Amino acid sequence: SMSIEALHSAVRDIPDFPKPGIVFKDITPVLSHPTLFRQAITLLCETAADSPIDKVVGIDARGFIFAAAVADRLNAGFIPIRKAGKLPWKTRGLAYALEYGEATVEIHEDAITPGERVLLVDDLLATGGTAAAAIRLIQGLGGDLVAASFLIELDFLQGRQQLGDVRIESVLRYG
Ligand code: 5GP
Repeated sequence: SMSIEALHSAVRDIPDFPKPGIVFKDITPVLSHPTLFRQAITLLCETAADSPIDKVVGIDARGFIFAAAVADRLNAGFIPIRKAGKLPWKTRGLAYALEYGEATVEIHEDAITPGERVLLVDDLLATGGTAAAAIRLIQGLGGDLVAASFLIELDFLQGRQQLGDVRIESVLRYG
């Protein structure tokens, strides 16, 4: 559609960021454009919100921007998953492997009530490690994960294979 095309052209390739050999997808031109940002949120909602959602979980940091807007649109609550040490209340954490070393992500232990219907939103699915950790935190709190929804999926990294038996939706895909 027109808006998919416009979103595709707005996402900017940045070679060698954050390190040599990586081509980073820069989504800030989508954010700074008044109608493209709204269309991105509409499409993120359409992909996964054909059923009621109680909580939208967003991943630190670009995921917050999209997930908060989606939560507002769906009349749902917003829940942050953050890097270790950032959340002030009692947390559940999970360490996961990165290309070099590991990272830990955390969620507040009272963020999700067992049985609540949860939508996970992030800007981009790459290797899938981050989303896999987020999914385990959500399911560990008893959340009913309805879907994981991404603005961008990098197909060639096969991240969805890390996410198990979860409905995965993406607005833009790059092979
Ligand atoms: P993964 O764990 O799937 O390898 O990486 C996904 C996470 O890293 C997401 O939270 C995403 O924000 C970030 N990320 C990795 N590569 C990119 C990229 O090229 N562009 C953007 N915007 N985020 C990226």
